[in-house]
Amino acid sequence: MAIKLSFKEYDTALREGRLLGLKCGCGDILCPPRAVCPRCGDADLEVVQLSGRGKIASYTTLFVAAEGRDKELPYAMALVALEEGPYLIGRIDTDCPDKLDMSAIGKTVTTGHGVFGGDKYSAGEAAYPMFRFVTDQAYE
Ligand SMILES: [Zn+2]
Repeated sequence: MAIKLSFKEYDTALREGRLLGLKCGCGDILCPPRAVCPRCGDADLEVVQLSGRGKIASYTTLFVAAEGRDKELPYAMALVALEEGPYLIGRIDTDCPDKLDMSAIGKTVTTGHGVFGGDKYSAGEAAYPMFRFVTDQAYE
């Protein structure tokens, strides 16, 4: 079974401002990439570029970090429902993560990226989704 979209290809595209996903014959869109469709198990997937737009489904603000990552605190992680269907986890781009409240739920965001420097728990530097509010500047 050939991998249609490797993490490296996904990572490179994200750094270039493109959010890539996979479209399955059953209609589901997968993002981040997977080897097979979790709905139907098919591996016949097509690489597609996603809009990066979505709505915050949930979020949490972190005040405790993994070892060596405490300088980044606090930061907010969101689960975003992309307009093409999949849910994607990433950080919320805000200077005030501790000021977010329930009104953030449902807000429209676009997907950019940040770069995680790597640590002893990871395979090294990698890009991650960074969500920016589209219509509400209240959290800037
Ligand atoms: Zn499928």
